[in-house]
Amino acid sequence: MNAHSYSSAAVESPVDRHDAATVCEQLRQLVGGEYVWSGEDPRAEPCLRDWHGDHVATALAVVMPANTEQVQSVVCYCAQQAIAVVPQGGNTGLVLGALPLGADARVIVLGLGRMNAIRDMDHDNYAITVEAGCILQTVQDAAAAQGFLFPVSLGAEGSCQIGGNISTNAGGVNVLRYGMMREQVLGLEVVLPDGSVLHNLKGLRKDNRGVDVNQLFIGAEGALGIVTAASLRLSPLPQNVVTALLALDSVHDAVQLYLQARKRCGDLMTAFELMPKNVLTLAQEALPDTTAPMSLTHSTYVLVEFSGAELVDVAGILESFLERVMEDGLLQDAVIAHTQAQAATLWRYREAVNEAQALRGLHLRSDVSVSISRMAEFVEEVHQQLQQAFPSSLVVGYGHIGDGNVHVNVLPPADYTTEQRMALIEAGGNIITECVMGFNGSFSAEHGVGRLKKSTFEHYADAAQKMLMHKLKQCVDPKNIMNPGCLLS
Ligand SMILES: Cc1cc2nc3c(=O)[nH]c(=O)nc-3n(C[C@H](O)[C@H](O)[C@H](O)COP(=O)(O)OP(=O)(O)OC[C@H]3O[C@@H](n4cnc5c(N)ncnc54)[C@H](O)[C@@H]3O)c2cc1C
Repeated sequence: MNAHSYSSAAVESPVDRHDAATVCEQLRQLVGGEYVWSGEDPRAEPCLRDWHGDHVATALAVVMPANTEQVQSVVCYCAQQAIAVVPQGGNTGLVLGALPLGADARVIVLGLGRMNAIRDMDHDNYAITVEAGCILQTVQDAAAAQGFLFPVSLGAEGSCQIGGNISTNAGGVNVLRYGMMREQVLGLEVVLPDGSVLHNLKGLRKDNRGVDVNQLFIGAEGALGIVTAASLRLSPLPQNVVTALLALDSVHDAVQLYLQARKRCGDLMTAFELMPKNVLTLAQEALPDTTAPMSLTHSTYVLVEFSGAELVDVAGILESFLERVMEDGLLQDAVIAHTQAQAATLWRYREAVNEAQALRGLHLRSDVSVSISRMAEFVEEVHQQLQQAFPSSLVVGYGHIGDGNVHVNVLPPADYTTEQRMALIEAGGNIITECVMGFNGSFSAEHGVGRLKKSTFEHYADAAQKMLMHKLKQCVDPKNIMNPGCLLS
């Protein structure tokens, strides 16, 4: 079982240059000359490699339509010409869903970046309607400027797009209170593989007229259609936000602290991020000029954020909660951020974890979930198995443990060759997958299936789930032009 590895070299098909030139020319007539780049154009290069730079794809063209009508005409053209379409947002996805790797040579990348307008903000309805190419951070900022919160927040928020967030059902650090992207979607506009358009941007909170078809496209990774716009739920912007870094003696204690916080502080907790000592030390590699927020003398750290409305004494509640758990012996030490700058520094550590790992070169990454009640046991078990298999590598486990979601990654020693790294990725991926399935968990908590985890999905997914998904794909996209090779085809 080849888990979580993808070899692009073995499956790429060469692009026919004559064909590519003809296709580019015809696409230019649909969206304008400036916005169609051949696969060899340097402007296409960032769209044809993944975020880590580990994989490079080929395509006939990268196309950037300006509006829904242009998306429609490109999709119709591709359907007629039997050209596959890979939708691409910010290309920050971590499972190779937005790259035409291993697809037929007749494929284009359809980038949504030009469709970045905020179409409407309905204050009384607590809703915003945006085009799919809006950067997540732009939506957060636009909401905040009007006193609202768009709660989806993740490390790639400065680059990832709303359409990509919807298509991967993105999670991030605020899922604890606000849920994943699915919970924010009130309605969608989608160009279907036959060129028809689903118009559903009414922003209704209740609409029980049959099956909620919006749901088909959330987490579908571009395999059923192209999301062109979305109506999204907004929340009140919290006026009081308090961030703290907490030191504990074990992952078990961290889970206990989380359970205590839920019980005693209710919905005030918005984030609860596990960062063991080795992860904080690793993060420092990407932050050479930053001083650690506290001396790292304990094994386990947790970054927590509590937030509430103007009249809620969030800081007071957090402080008295921390006093109690310290008296109980659960909490060992704490640093509370008193300014926004201090809070930003604490969050910077969390964000730097990804950057620090990228600096270490090719490594094994995972994104798994188990029930919260089994989280501590799982982390201990998988660490033990990985450390035993790869004694000279660094094994890290961090992430959104309040959601039962942890990233268990293995960083090989610096002198490992690419071949050794690939072998570790394959063997270690199998260990993690077997272990998480043994705990009745998921091998993809947030990032999706894409191309990277497709064989794992085919191997482990429930037979009835696969049957339903494949039938849906055949029904909606009988010509299989939407993102072939990714998730469903
Ligand atoms: C540093 C870093 C931190 C991250 N942290 C998190 C995290 O905490 N939680 C999390 O969930 N993810 C996280 N991710 C993963 C990634 O950011 C998310 O998956 C994000 O939602 C992808 O958005 P994107 O616009 O970059 O999509 P892309 O990578 O461009 O595409 C992702 C998938 O969606 C499809 N797609 C894109 N746009 C559309 C569209 N308009 N219509 C139809 N299909 C489309 C693509 O074909 C592809 O299958 C992180 C990534 C990085 C690099």
